Amino acid sequence: MWRNAAIDYSEGSVESPPAPRPSVLVVEDEANIRELVCLHLGLEHLECVQADSGSTALALARSRRFDLIVLDLMLPGLDGVTVCRAIRRESLNADAPILMLTARREESDKVVGLDSGADDYLTKPFGVRELMARVRALLRRGRQRVEPDSIEPLIYKHIRVEPARRRVTVGGTPVELTSQEFQLLQVLLSHPGIVFSREALLQKVWKGATFVTVRSVDTLVKRLRKKMEADPADPSVILTVWGSGYKAADV
Ligand code: CA
Repeated sequence: MWRNAAIDYSEGSVESPPAPRPSVLVVEDEANIRELVCLHLGLEHLECVQADSGSTALALARSRRFDLIVLDLMLPGLDGVTVCRAIRRESLNADAPILMLTARREESDKVVGLDSGADDYLTKPFGVRELMARVRALLRRGRQRVEPDSIEPLIYKHIRVEPARRRVTVGGTPVELTSQEFQLLQVLLSHPGIVFSREALLQKVWKGATFVTVRSVDTLVKRLRKKMEADPADPSVILTVWGSGYKAADV
């Protein structure tokens, strides 16, 4: 991992001291919101790199790694969803946590519905405390680190999971997954036939984040099935084990 502390992409960036500290890319065209976010990140001793457009953000995401990306949905030119997908698809930050900012509840739904690859979202106007709670939770969870022994592609029936590139294909067709969906799929497919309780999956996918409940596991499974299963209502890959949890069907 390399850093370039000297880069300052827009006026108002918080200056980086030589000591390494977590770095956050903040993408927002409204300067007052961008600077407010950066002010509070700075107070938490986080390095803040600002981008005021999607194309600047993408260029930055391709050139260096960040510990977190705060990405506004409404941007001139490339919108947040497009930027998010591009970061996930082809950048050094394919596995970095992404917090999406949206202006309205309907947009939040859109972010989730489109499954752009964001890990969490926050609806504007948001309180600084809520923002920082999300930021801390995402930083604590960190990158969806790849286990050294799971770098090799995982082949399960017609599904191919490439942990190193964070890529999944179903019958040869690429499927876009969020970090959490990817993590869940990887856990289940690595151990076909083994039943995981919701609590175990919570621990493995959310790494002890405080704002999630076992219901989140059900929601995530539902979303994953929509993307992976020929018939999500009658799954053949991710099976429910009543009273216990979930498992990948035996191969
Ligand atoms: Ca905006």
